[in-house]
Amino acid sequence: MSGDRDARRILLLDANSNDRHLAARLLASGLPDYAIEPVADAESLSRHLADRDFALLITDSRLPWMDNRRLLQRLAESDVPTPIIIMMGPTDDSAVSDYLDRGAFCVLPKDSAGYLQLPAMASRAMSRAPAPEAASSQLVERLPVGVISVDREGRITRANAGAAQTLGVASPEDARGLVLVDLVDSHPLQRRLQLLLEGDNDGVDMEVKLRRPDGENWWARLRIWPSEEAPGTFDGTLENISDYKKTETELARQAAELGRSNSELEQFAYVVSHDLQEPLSLIQRYAELLSGQKAVARHAESRKQAEHVLGSSRRMQNMIDAILEYSRVETGGTPFENTDFEEVLKAAEDNLAAVIESSRAEIIHDNLPTLSADRGQMLQLFQNLVGNALKFRAPKRAPRIIVTATEQREHWRFKVQDNGIGIAPDARDRIFGMFQRLHTGEEFPGTGIGLAICRSIVKRHGGQIWVDSVPGEGSTFHFTISRKL
Ligand code: ADP
Repeated sequence: MSGDRDARRILLLDANSNDRHLAARLLASGLPDYAIEPVADAESLSRHLADRDFALLITDSRLPWMDNRRLLQRLAESDVPTPIIIMMGPTDDSAVSDYLDRGAFCVLPKDSAGYLQLPAMASRAMSRAPAPEAASSQLVERLPVGVISVDREGRITRANAGAAQTLGVASPEDARGLVLVDLVDSHPLQRRLQLLLEGDNDGVDMEVKLRRPDGENWWARLRIWPSEEAPGTFDGTLENISDYKKTETELARQAAELGRSNSELEQFAYVVSHDLQEPLSLIQRYAELLSGQKAVARHAESRKQAEHVLGSSRRMQNMIDAILEYSRVETGGTPFENTDFEEVLKAAEDNLAAVIESSRAEIIHDNLPTLSADRGQMLQLFQNLVGNALKFRAPKRAPRIIVTATEQREHWRFKVQDNGIGIAPDARDRIFGMFQRLHTGEEFPGTGIGLAICRSIVKRHGGQIWVDSVPGEGSTFHFTISRKL
């Protein structure tokens, strides 16, 4: 008989054909991967018992041709333990405990409740049935994870090759006798292990630095729990996580470095922009003086040159102002306070009243929440988004802007939707960067800093910002604001 078939057959012993059919039907629908095989006589039962070609045996307590107590004894004596479920007609409780004492997995009544429980019980019986010892120990031996058993003093009594390797000893035999608590390089974790051994804990799951005999620095994830099979002892796994720990430490270092250089850069940009303002205003003043001089005003070429200098220095002034404004999001924010977003949107609309009126824009909005936020920055955020929706409107239709808010588990999510010119797919990430514009100053005025500021404001409020768009039809800017500020 093949091993595959062994694991997929359930023997059903019942002399009553109605009961047998009912049980077979329920088992077939509850355990479709198993073959249900009725056994009607002692001879075929002996053959199955000899071949051991089944995973579970279900038997009626009153079989005319077999004594169940003997059957239980034969199954218990075998070196491949197979679970048995007894289906019992009305009887006294003492017979139930007798069967259980003799190793039956469970005893179910032969009534509708009993039959309905049968598939679930059968499945539990088979999953608990220990695999043949040889096969399971080979499997454990080959596992890439360390597997250990520990006695109540915390001494390792069993280890596989994976555990030996993690612990830094030559073989599983060398791991035996090592005291687990001594291998852990942290007092609080040693204490937790000790509590587990003393029975004050249901199990531990911790990342530990190991003390290895070779002095190497290894990290392991150690999970230990009380053994079900041998009360008072413990089973556990030991997983080498040194590579993961190394990567984690390196990532944390890089993140800290990045954070540091980022804030240094921001500070640098702020200081430089600030310092550039003075020489720039000097250039502007002299350029204005120059272009005002009669000799220059009379000479067309000189006049053009002076105007170029003036125009360029004004553009540079705008950029410097934009950088300073951008740096102020982090440094110049005010503390978070209860902020009524309805009121903020209204204030943004008031500030944009002239263009709303001239473009005959319609602004529709949901009920907006009151949240903890920097009110001034929320105003700036709405003003930039609604301002862009008005600025990048489609030439042939009046702007229609819809503002909505939905509550989510961690955040509030807002949408500012317009029916403007839209944004090409490949530009949708780029536009949130500094000075990123998709149009010239002649087409649409601007510095390309508005969305970078929006992103910075949203980030300060624990959220994210992104855009969806159908070019030619409109764009929807989404942003989230954390509920836990
Ligand atoms: P600015 O408005 O000064 O150009 P922003 O950072 O606010 O700078 O926007 C960057 C670019 O993103 C804009 O130049 C424009 O091309 C695009 N954009 C922003 N909002 C919209 C919108 N609602 N519809 C279409 N394009 C937009």
